[in-house]
Amino acid sequence: MVTNPPDLRPDRAPRARIEDAPRPGQPTIGMVSLGCPKALVDSERILTRLRAEGYAISPDYAGADAVIVNTCGFLDSAKAESLEAIGEALKENGRVIVTGCLGAEPGYITGAHPTVLAVTGPHQYEQVLDAVHAAVPPDPDPFVDLLPASGVTLTPRHYSYLKISEGCNHACRFCIIPDMRGRLVSRPAHAILREAERLVEAGVRELLVISQDTSAYGLDLKHATENGHRAHITDLARDLGGLGAWVRLHYVYPYPHVRELIPLMAAHSDSGGLVLPYLDIPFQHAHPDTLKRMARPAAAARTLDEIAAWRRDCPDLALRSTFIVGFPGETEAEFQTLLDWLDEAQLDRVGCFRYENVAGARSNALPDHVPDEVKDDRWHRFMEKAQAISEAKLAAKVGQRLEVIVDEVDEDGVATCRTMADAPEIDGCLFIDEDTGGLAPGDFVTVEVDEAGEYDLWGRRLR
Ligand code: SF4
Repeated sequence: MVTNPPDLRPDRAPRARIEDAPRPGQPTIGMVSLGCPKALVDSERILTRLRAEGYAISPDYAGADAVIVNTCGFLDSAKAESLEAIGEALKENGRVIVTGCLGAEPGYITGAHPTVLAVTGPHQYEQVLDAVHAAVPPDPDPFVDLLPASGVTLTPRHYSYLKISEGCNHACRFCIIPDMRGRLVSRPAHAILREAERLVEAGVRELLVISQDTSAYGLDLKHATENGHRAHITDLARDLGGLGAWVRLHYVYPYPHVRELIPLMAAHSDSGGLVLPYLDIPFQHAHPDTLKRMARPAAAARTLDEIAAWRRDCPDLALRSTFIVGFPGETEAEFQTLLDWLDEAQLDRVGCFRYENVAGARSNALPDHVPDEVKDDRWHRFMEKAQAISEAKLAAKVGQRLEVIVDEVDEDGVATCRTMADAPEIDGCLFIDEDTGGLAPGDFVTVEVDEAGEYDLWGRRLR
């Protein structure tokens, strides 16, 4: 049974949202995108290519000539959800192409669903397209099938995920991503920048940089310079920051060179560019023995010292992280160290998972698994502390003037916005209840914060 909060699970990102209606006779494909934001980027890329080739995208099963299911295989529960989604697509449409992480195990899929048309693995774009071409031949019309400048995006148009690399060179014991996605392969910096420029030209106001290990970007390319751009996260972040959109960095590990990013964040001024003072760092735990058992990168890093140094240089820095409680062998003393660490680190945003076995993960074989009721108890104690920290930090913002980005304005005129400290879909919101006339998604607006809750803020529009 799923016990972690759905909105904190990497395998529960929102499904696809596509609205364009096909013209009569146009070959039409449906897409069900399960999984994390990284999988969502893969879906976007596949749809971008299909649109460029003249396919329409259907928002429902009935209107599609075939359906692509982009699966997730991160946890056993995600695998089950993927199989269920494939079954639903088969029942509702009948012509189904499977891709994504779970596609790395074709026998698992065809064993349960022998009638799927094709199974391809993660980032096998060409194979997915071949399967689509075989199932639903393209019917290009050069006058109407021009690729929209922003490609096709499954997220709202004013923000976009930007994937900078695939795979990971680490071997954390609880994680099977390196087995599924392989070792680190970085995209050339100039290609990422070109994509980012196109997105910004098309109206994207916030770029969410993602990968399995953002700080390791370019390691496989030996940080070489190609076409005038060095493949290093500091250089890439600086270049992206020059495009005029908000740039938010996710999945950054606390390697020493992260310090070089902080001055870029400290220089952030209003919407004028550079990198947001925000770091999403999956610390996972704080006790060195637990981290060693997890085989985490930078397990021995003095993270509290690092955090203090970053905050000295950039006092507005918002830190987000995720943690696992109840990892095999976690003692009460180790857990207490984590709570004490959290007290001192005062992170702004925190997600927490109860450890669960994942088929194929090496942590399954570790001794001393923690009983479920102990995991539960630790999860509640951890979240209680994290919530109290979040509440106090948000209360301190009352009276401050902040720049926010508008995500949505509903029919009652309430604007849902985010501050620089809030990433979409995983962090909190700032709501404006009055005087929202003329506001639209993607607008930047200055507010004065007049109320704070546990995770969200309320504010008054100043201009
Ligand atoms: S760093 Fe660890 S948790 Fe992250 S993708 Fe690599 S192996 Fe998995």
